[in-house]
Amino acid sequence: IREQMAQLQRLEALGQLTAGIAHNFSNLIQIIQSGIRLANALAGGNDQLKRILADMAAATQQRAGLTEHLLAFSQHHPAEPELVDVASQIREVADLVSRSLRGNIRVQLNLDDDLWPIRVDTTQFELALLNVALNARDAMPDGGQLAISARNVTLNDGSDGISGRAVSIHLRDSGVGIPRGVLGRVLEPFFTTKPRGEGTGLGLSQAYGFAEQAGGTLRIQSTPGQGTEVTFLLPAVSEHDATDAASPVAVSGLAG
Ligand code: ADP
Repeated sequence: IREQMAQLQRLEALGQLTAGIAHNFSNLIQIIQSGIRLANALAGGNDQLKRILADMAAATQQRAGLTEHLLAFSQHHPAEPELVDVASQIREVADLVSRSLRGNIRVQLNLDDDLWPIRVDTTQFELALLNVALNARDAMPDGGQLAISARNVTLNDGSDGISGRAVSIHLRDSGVGIPRGVLGRVLEPFFTTKPRGEGTGLGLSQAYGFAEQAGGTLRIQSTPGQGTEVTFLLPAVSEHDATDAASPVAVSGLAG
Protein backbone atom coordinates (compact mmCIF):
# COMPACT_ATOMS: atom_id res chain seq x y z
CA ILE A 1 0.00 0.00 0.00
CA ARG A 2 2.69 2.42 1.08
CA GLU A 3 4.53 1.96 -2.24
CA GLN A 4 1.42 2.42 -4.37
CA MET A 5 0.48 5.53 -2.46
CA ALA A 6 3.93 7.01 -2.72
CA GLN A 7 3.74 6.41 -6.45
CA LEU A 8 0.30 8.02 -6.76
CA GLN A 9 1.47 10.97 -4.71
CA ARG A 10 4.53 11.44 -6.89
CA LEU A 11 2.37 11.39 -10.03
CA GLU A 12 -0.03 13.84 -8.48
CA ALA A 13 2.83 16.12 -7.50
CA LEU A 14 4.38 15.89 -10.92
CA GLY A 15 1.06 16.83 -12.48
CA GLN A 16 0.67 19.83 -10.19
CA LEU A 17 4.23 20.93 -10.74
CA THR A 18 3.93 20.63 -14.52
CA ALA A 19 0.65 22.52 -14.55
CA GLY A 20 2.18 25.29 -12.44
CA ILE A 21 5.26 25.66 -14.62
CA ALA A 22 3.31 25.46 -17.87
CA HIS A 23 0.86 28.06 -16.67
CA ASN A 24 3.63 30.42 -15.63
CA PHE A 25 5.52 29.89 -18.85
CA SER A 26 2.38 30.46 -20.89
CA ASN A 27 1.83 33.82 -19.16
CA LEU A 28 5.41 34.82 -19.83
CA ILE A 29 5.10 33.96 -23.51
CA GLN A 30 1.97 36.06 -23.83
CA ILE A 31 3.82 39.03 -22.34
CA ILE A 32 6.71 38.55 -24.77
CA GLN A 33 4.34 38.17 -27.73
CA SER A 34 2.49 41.37 -27.00
CA GLY A 35 5.88 43.10 -26.51
CA ILE A 36 6.93 41.91 -29.95
CA ARG A 37 3.69 43.20 -31.53
CA LEU A 38 4.21 46.57 -29.86
CA ALA A 39 7.87 46.76 -30.95
CA ASN A 40 6.84 45.85 -34.50
CA ALA A 41 4.40 48.72 -34.59
CA LEU A 42 7.12 51.09 -33.36
CA ALA A 43 9.82 49.72 -35.71
CA GLY A 44 8.61 51.83 -38.62
CA GLY A 45 10.88 51.39 -41.68
CA ASN A 46 13.69 49.64 -39.75
CA ASP A 47 13.81 46.35 -41.71
CA GLN A 48 16.68 44.88 -39.72
CA LEU A 49 14.76 45.31 -36.47
CA LYS A 50 11.62 43.89 -38.09
CA ARG A 51 13.53 40.75 -39.14
CA ILE A 52 14.80 40.25 -35.59
CA LEU A 53 11.28 40.70 -34.24
CA ALA A 54 9.88 38.21 -36.78
CA ASP A 55 12.42 35.60 -35.65
CA MET A 56 11.46 36.22 -32.04
CA ALA A 57 7.76 35.91 -32.89
CA ALA A 58 8.32 32.57 -34.62
CA ALA A 59 10.36 31.19 -31.73
CA THR A 60 7.83 32.18 -29.09
CA GLN A 61 4.97 30.81 -31.16
CA GLN A 62 6.72 27.45 -31.21
CA ARG A 63 7.22 27.51 -27.42
CA ALA A 64 3.57 28.42 -26.91
CA GLY A 65 2.70 25.09 -28.52
CA LEU A 66 4.96 23.31 -26.06
CA THR A 67 3.22 24.80 -23.02
CA GLU A 68 -0.11 23.70 -24.42
CA HIS A 69 1.21 20.15 -24.63
CA LEU A 70 2.47 20.35 -21.06
CA LEU A 71 -0.87 21.62 -19.82
CA ALA A 72 -2.68 18.86 -21.66
CA PHE A 73 -0.32 16.29 -20.13
CA SER A 74 -0.77 17.57 -16.59
CA GLN A 75 -4.53 17.47 -16.97
CA HIS A 76 -4.36 13.91 -18.18
CA HIS A 77 -6.07 12.58 -15.08
CA PRO A 78 -9.09 14.78 -14.63
CA ALA A 79 -11.33 14.12 -11.65
CA GLU A 80 -14.20 11.85 -12.53
CA PRO A 81 -16.93 12.59 -10.03
CA GLU A 82 -19.45 9.88 -9.37
CA LEU A 83 -21.97 9.10 -6.68
CA VAL A 84 -20.18 7.62 -3.70
CA ASP A 85 -21.48 5.74 -0.70
CA VAL A 86 -19.45 7.34 2.07
CA ALA A 87 -19.90 4.55 4.60
CA SER A 88 -18.66 1.74 2.39
CA GLN A 89 -15.76 3.86 1.16
CA ILE A 90 -14.70 4.57 4.75
CA ARG A 91 -15.02 0.90 5.71
CA GLU A 92 -12.78 -0.04 2.81
CA VAL A 93 -10.11 2.46 3.83
CA ALA A 94 -10.34 1.49 7.49
CA ASP A 95 -9.80 -2.10 6.42
CA LEU A 96 -6.75 -1.22 4.32
CA VAL A 97 -5.26 0.87 7.11
CA SER A 98 -5.96 -1.74 9.79
CA ARG A 99 -3.96 -4.25 7.81
CA SER A 100 -0.96 -1.94 7.72
CA LEU A 101 -1.07 -1.24 11.46
CA ARG A 102 0.89 -2.77 14.22
CA GLY A 103 -1.30 -4.37 16.83
CA ASN A 104 -1.12 -1.49 19.27
CA ILE A 105 -3.38 0.88 17.32
CA ARG A 106 -7.13 0.46 17.59
CA VAL A 107 -9.39 1.65 14.78
CA GLN A 108 -12.88 2.62 15.84
CA LEU A 109 -15.67 3.31 13.34
CA ASN A 110 -18.73 5.36 14.11
CA LEU A 111 -20.78 5.92 10.97
CA ASP A 112 -24.31 7.26 11.02
CA ASP A 113 -26.94 5.24 9.21
CA ASP A 114 -28.27 6.70 5.98
CA LEU A 115 -25.38 9.03 5.25
CA TRP A 116 -26.21 11.27 2.32
CA PRO A 117 -24.43 10.37 -0.91
CA ILE A 118 -21.69 12.65 -2.22
CA ARG A 119 -20.40 13.11 -5.74
CA VAL A 120 -16.61 12.86 -5.87
CA ASP A 121 -13.77 11.13 -7.67
CA THR A 122 -13.63 7.75 -5.90
CA THR A 123 -9.89 7.24 -6.31
CA GLN A 124 -9.06 10.69 -4.97
CA PHE A 125 -11.50 10.28 -2.10
CA GLU A 126 -9.94 6.98 -1.09
CA LEU A 127 -6.45 8.41 -1.40
CA ALA A 128 -7.38 11.43 0.72
CA LEU A 129 -8.80 9.23 3.49
CA LEU A 130 -5.75 6.96 3.31
CA ASN A 131 -3.33 9.87 3.48
CA VAL A 132 -4.99 11.20 6.62
CA ALA A 133 -5.31 7.77 8.23
CA LEU A 134 -1.67 6.91 7.55
CA ASN A 135 -0.61 10.22 9.10
CA ALA A 136 -2.59 9.19 12.17
CA ARG A 137 -0.74 5.89 12.25
CA ASP A 138 2.62 7.64 11.96
CA ALA A 139 1.64 9.98 14.79
CA MET A 140 1.13 7.03 17.17
CA PRO A 141 4.44 5.14 17.27
CA ASP A 142 3.59 3.87 20.75
CA GLY A 143 0.04 2.89 19.89
CA GLY A 144 -3.26 4.61 20.44
CA GLN A 145 -6.63 5.02 18.86
CA LEU A 146 -7.86 6.16 15.48
CA ALA A 147 -11.54 7.08 15.57
CA ILE A 148 -13.27 7.56 12.23
CA SER A 149 -16.76 8.95 12.25
CA ALA A 150 -19.17 10.37 9.70
CA ARG A 151 -22.48 12.14 9.97
CA ASN A 152 -24.90 14.29 8.00
CA VAL A 153 -24.80 18.00 8.76
CA THR A 154 -26.73 21.00 7.53
CA LEU A 155 -24.61 24.13 7.36
CA ASN A 156 -26.22 27.52 7.63
CA ASP A 157 -23.43 30.00 8.13
CA GLY A 158 -21.53 29.30 4.94
CA SER A 159 -18.36 30.50 6.66
CA ASP A 160 -16.41 27.83 4.75
CA GLY A 161 -18.02 28.83 1.54
CA ILE A 162 -20.35 25.86 1.77
CA SER A 163 -23.88 25.81 3.04
CA GLY A 164 -26.72 23.36 2.92
CA ARG A 165 -26.47 19.62 3.30
CA ALA A 166 -23.05 18.10 3.74
CA VAL A 167 -21.38 15.00 5.09
CA SER A 168 -18.71 15.56 7.72
CA ILE A 169 -16.05 12.91 8.12
CA HIS A 170 -13.73 13.00 11.12
CA LEU A 171 -10.46 11.15 11.63
CA ARG A 172 -9.23 11.64 15.16
CA ASP A 173 -6.03 10.15 16.49
CA SER A 174 -4.53 10.06 19.96
CA GLY A 175 -1.05 10.73 18.63
CA VAL A 176 1.72 13.24 19.20
CA GLY A 177 -0.24 16.19 17.83
CA ILE A 178 1.03 19.08 15.73
CA PRO A 179 2.95 21.96 17.33
CA ARG A 180 1.32 25.37 16.82
CA GLY A 181 4.13 26.67 14.65
CA VAL A 182 3.92 23.65 12.38
CA LEU A 183 0.13 23.56 11.98
CA GLY A 184 0.15 26.53 9.61
CA ARG A 185 2.46 24.75 7.22
CA VAL A 186 1.11 21.20 7.03
CA LEU A 187 -0.98 21.87 3.92
CA GLU A 188 2.00 23.13 1.95
CA PRO A 189 3.05 20.71 -0.79
CA PHE A 190 6.33 18.96 0.12
CA PHE A 191 6.20 20.10 3.76
CA THR A 192 7.10 17.17 5.96
CA THR A 193 8.62 16.61 9.38
CA LYS A 194 9.19 12.92 8.66
CA PRO A 195 12.64 11.45 8.08
CA ARG A 196 14.01 11.51 4.55
CA GLY A 197 12.45 8.73 2.49
CA GLU A 198 9.43 8.36 4.76
CA GLY A 199 7.45 11.49 4.06
CA THR A 200 6.61 13.14 0.76
CA GLY A 201 4.86 16.10 2.32
CA LEU A 202 2.03 15.61 -0.16
CA GLY A 203 -0.53 13.69 1.84
CA LEU A 204 -2.41 16.59 3.34
CA SER A 205 -2.01 18.74 0.21
CA GLN A 206 -3.74 16.00 -1.73
CA ALA A 207 -6.47 15.67 0.90
CA TYR A 208 -7.00 19.42 0.91
CA GLY A 209 -6.98 19.64 -2.89
CA PHE A 210 -9.50 16.83 -3.07
CA ALA A 211 -11.87 18.47 -0.56
CA GLU A 212 -11.69 21.84 -2.30
CA GLN A 213 -12.22 20.34 -5.72
CA ALA A 214 -15.27 18.51 -4.39
CA GLY A 215 -16.70 21.87 -3.34
CA GLY A 216 -16.04 21.17 0.33
CA THR A 217 -13.26 21.89 2.74
CA LEU A 218 -10.72 20.33 5.09
CA ARG A 219 -10.09 21.36 8.70
CA ILE A 220 -7.30 20.33 11.01
CA GLN A 221 -7.36 20.72 14.77
CA SER A 222 -4.57 19.51 16.97
CA THR A 223 -3.44 19.56 20.56
CA PRO A 224 0.23 18.71 20.99
CA GLY A 225 0.61 15.67 23.22
CA GLN A 226 -3.06 14.75 22.87
CA GLY A 227 -3.86 14.18 19.23
CA THR A 228 -5.14 15.49 15.95
CA GLU A 229 -8.51 15.62 14.27
CA VAL A 230 -8.90 16.08 10.54
CA THR A 231 -12.39 16.89 9.25
CA PHE A 232 -13.62 16.62 5.70
CA LEU A 233 -16.76 18.61 4.96
CA LEU A 234 -18.18 17.47 1.65
CA PRO A 235 -21.38 18.75 0.05
CA ALA A 236 -24.10 16.13 -0.18
CA VAL A 237 -25.87 15.41 -3.42
CA SER A 238 -29.50 16.45 -3.29
CA GLU A 239 -32.08 13.72 -3.83
CA HIS A 240 -32.96 15.34 -7.14
CA ASP A 241 -29.36 15.03 -8.40
CA ALA A 242 -29.05 11.55 -6.98
CA THR A 243 -31.92 10.28 -9.11
CA ASP A 244 -30.70 12.21 -12.14
CA ALA A 245 -27.31 10.61 -11.79
CA ALA A 246 -28.69 7.12 -12.09
CA SER A 247 -29.80 7.50 -15.69
CA PRO A 248 -26.50 8.56 -17.37
CA VAL A 249 -24.80 5.56 -15.78
CA ALA A 250 -27.44 3.25 -17.28
CA VAL A 251 -27.23 5.03 -20.65
CA SER A 252 -23.45 4.81 -20.88
CA GLY A 253 -23.70 1.16 -19.87
CA LEU A 254 -26.00 0.49 -22.80
CA ALA A 255 -23.98 2.58 -25.21
CA GLY A 256 -20.64 1.23 -24.07
P1 ADP B 1 3.84 13.49 5.05
O1 ADP B 1 2.89 12.60 5.80
O2 ADP B 1 4.44 12.83 3.87
O3 ADP B 1 4.86 14.15 5.92
P2 ADP B 1 1.58 15.27 4.91
O4 ADP B 1 1.27 16.41 4.01
O5 ADP B 1 0.57 14.20 4.98
O6 ADP B 1 2.97 14.71 4.44
O7 ADP B 1 1.83 15.81 6.38
C1 ADP B 1 2.69 16.89 6.59
C2 ADP B 1 3.15 16.94 8.03
O8 ADP B 1 2.03 17.25 8.88
C3 ADP B 1 3.69 15.64 8.58
O9 ADP B 1 5.05 15.46 8.24
C4 ADP B 1 3.48 15.83 10.08
O10 ADP B 1 4.49 16.65 10.63
C5 ADP B 1 2.19 16.63 10.14
N1 ADP B 1 1.03 15.77 10.41
C6 ADP B 1 0.06 15.41 9.53
N2 ADP B 1 -0.86 14.65 10.10
C7 ADP B 1 -0.52 14.52 11.40
C8 ADP B 1 -1.10 13.85 12.53
N3 ADP B 1 -2.25 13.16 12.45
N4 ADP B 1 -0.45 13.95 13.72
C9 ADP B 1 0.68 14.67 13.83
N5 ADP B 1 1.29 15.31 12.80
C10 ADP B 1 0.69 15.25 11.59
